[in-house]
Amino acid sequence: MPLDFLTLMAVMAANLFMISAVLPLIMGRDVSRAARHVQASMLLQAMAWAAIIASASWWDQALSTVSVACNAAAQWMLYRALEEWLGPRPLGRLLLVLVVAAPLGYTLGFEHYAWRVGWANGLMAVILCIVARATLDPLILADVRWRSLLLGCLVTTAIFTLARGLLGAFTDQYPSFRTPHPVNLAAAVATNVSLVLGTVAVLVAWRSEAEQKLRALAMTDGLTGLLNRRGFTNQGDTLLSHAWRHRLPLTALMLDLDHFKQINDTHGHEAGDRALQLFARLLTETCRSGDLIARLGGEEFGVLLLHNAAPAGLSFDRRLRQRLHEASEAELGFVLDYSGGMASLLPGESKLAALMARADGALYDAKTAGRGQLMAAP
Ligand code: GH3
Ligand code: MG
Ligand code: MG
Repeated sequence: MPLDFLTLMAVMAANLFMISAVLPLIMGRDVSRAARHVQASMLLQAMAWAAIIASASWWDQALSTVSVACNAAAQWMLYRALEEWLGPRPLGRLLLVLVVAAPLGYTLGFEHYAWRVGWANGLMAVILCIVARATLDPLILADVRWRSLLLGCLVTTAIFTLARGLLGAFTDQYPSFRTPHPVNLAAAVATNVSLVLGTVAVLVAWRSEAEQKLRALAMTDGLTGLLNRRGFTNQGDTLLSHAWRHRLPLTALMLDLDHFKQINDTHGHEAGDRALQLFARLLTETCRSGDLIARLGGEEFGVLLLHNAAPAGLSFDRRLRQRLHEASEAELGFVLDYSGGMASLLPGESKLAALMARADGALYDAKTAGRGQLMAAP
């Protein structure tokens, strides 16, 4: 089967233009920063291939330099998308230097064919390897499958790019990028395949991002921004297994605002909402990192103090109560108070529901004992 290099390039450029035109249409306008970076990356790649094809007929130096610049910038955009998806990525500074150096060195040494081909392809191979490296070790939970696919595409492209650089720099079998040398043709086919599979990988990554956002939304309380009951149960189970495995103390608090119905009746529902938001803020400020807080419903809140036994629950309650008295008077114009029930994890207790039920029992006792206090479960 005869393969024509220019035809392959033209098909790839056409594919890339189509993808970058269609992506914004199917993704819609309200997309994440990562998705926008991916769209920019596709468009830059399309421009890179169009420029290299056009450079065969017009303004060779200008257009092929534009091509190198667009290709390098496309990888920079992909790297930025990976940062959004996976958290801070290594070697970003070096990548930026290489992205600038690749077209610069290419155009400055344009008269020397071996130099410019070796330089541009060599640097592009390193750039691709840095982006490939960025798919590893995510700091944010991300599926290994799309990352592996993208890694494979980037490494394959890097290998062929390096091979073309070496051929151009150290042999005379490669007088132009259109030379129908087997390596060149194989590179064109591999780049085409990598393009298609790489697009699949980033589309899956984008879908996972949207899914994760929805999942977070389903676990968050809209009014206070705290976890809701579902989020509390979900993360509380994990916390409890952790405490259970490592034999660490864990203390649960159930807190319920006192006479809240009356507050709504006297000051209005909006003041009630502000009181809930204030209480949530103070809870967050009183917690330590690793603790879990949630609005379990209405004016009822749950707290899990990790690595802490009952005395820490008492001091948590003391600090919160003092802050609440001061802040509610100042910010709401009336004093807000709450009742609390506390239970610490028992040696044989392995269910979050059982722990919370004991804290709830203690809360009931605090209510019947006159409110405005914390009671510990026996
Ligand atoms: P107690 O001291 O026994 O806890 O009495 P309470 O009035 O706090 O308890 P009750 O369960 O009788 O009333 C809870 C009230 O909380 C009734 C409901 O209208 C109010 N509430 C629940 N969710 C919200 C909310 O999102 N915003 C506002 N403003 N009020 C809410
Ligand atoms: Mg109440
Ligand atoms: Mg209640």
